Amino acid sequence: MSKIRKNTLFAFIFALLLTFIFLVFGALPIASADWDQNIIEIDATYEVIPEEMVVHVSKEFIFSNHDTDTRLWRGYYSILNYRLPNGIKNIRAYDGDDDINLFKLDAKCDYYTFEFNKNIWYGKSYKFNVEYDIPVQKNTAAFHINKNGDSTKVTVSIPDEYEVSINRNDYTKTQQSDKTIYSFDKGLNWDRSCFVDAVHVTEMKVINDIIHLTEKDIKITIEFWDGEDEWANEMMRTATESLPVLEEVSGLSYPTDYDITITQATLADTLGYGGSNNGMDGIILLHTENYETLIHELAHYWTRECNFETIWMDEGYANLYTYLVLEQTHPDDAAARKEMYFEQYETMKPTHDISLSEWKVPDSFNSENANEVDYGYRKSFVLAYNKYENEGLESIQVSNLKK
Ligand SMILES: [Zn+2]
Repeated sequence: MSKIRKNTLFAFIFALLLTFIFLVFGALPIASADWDQNIIEIDATYEVIPEEMVVHVSKEFIFSNHDTDTRLWRGYYSILNYRLPNGIKNIRAYDGDDDINLFKLDAKCDYYTFEFNKNIWYGKSYKFNVEYDIPVQKNTAAFHINKNGDSTKVTVSIPDEYEVSINRNDYTKTQQSDKTIYSFDKGLNWDRSCFVDAVHVTEMKVINDIIHLTEKDIKITIEFWDGEDEWANEMMRTATESLPVLEEVSGLSYPTDYDITITQATLADTLGYGGSNNGMDGIILLHTENYETLIHELAHYWTRECNFETIWMDEGYANLYTYLVLEQTHPDDAAARKEMYFEQYETMKPTHDISLSEWKVPDSFNSENANEVDYGYRKSFVLAYNKYENEGLESIQVSNLKK
């Protein structure tokens, strides 16, 4: 600024102008300037560190101001708002040796504001680093890699004893002493979140319990890996609590004569889905799934018994029963789940509408078929729910008995 301070009046006006521009551009760059012209390059590394029970993430950002509205000293950028995942710890940002300030935009959202240590004028770039840890379990590390910048390079490093599945396959795999490195080149599309599931499969532990249903006693067995006791107990609680409610809402007592085994599974076991009900062979459930998915899989014992001719009825009613069980056991979740399903149905309808009579659930779920599969589940729930709303639960129960 020293060069233009020759004229004090001019300097004063210019300072005023800069203050104004800083307020507008600095605080709200997206609203006022052409933010889209800027380029954010990111080089991200995700390292699974079992001893510390974390995935250590480090990201190098290069922010380049290409916003023509800031040309000729008409403003600059001094902050970046960037989304970091929920539940992370040890967040740190720095450029070279200096820490840079960061704060959360508001407690509810995941956006952070990074305050650069200098003003980035038109044509200039700024390099800084962000590091944080994602807490994981003793033998399992599951995490998402989210939409990132304009040109993103991603490297994932996982110890060899882990079984790994990643729900996209455009990476190259290399071996490095006792680790496997998965590299995603610059320029790939990160619009959809990528899920990494790494499991150190240990010998299975078992808990079981007997539950008294209307017509019979059923033995519930949960098989799980070392360190996953909390998950196992929650699934036992869910099964014990949900099975009697499923009898009640469907109007049918537990319809098969075998006991139920629920086995903790990797993403590779479930072929990308949250779980699957394999009848007599029991239920396999992805280790990252919670009670909602288990209720859905348990509900299939009833929907299968109804011999629905189409998949949409099987899945639609499994999700309707899940909703009706949650309404009694976790009312807030029931309402949120219903709202989310309806909302996603409406959003996806214009681009993904399909006739449910032709809808099939593919053998495996991945980033290529995700939208189509998700839409089918949403639409079949909406149809089943509307039938329940219009005709009442009793009419559904009567048609259950007729099958
Ligand atoms: Zn299902």
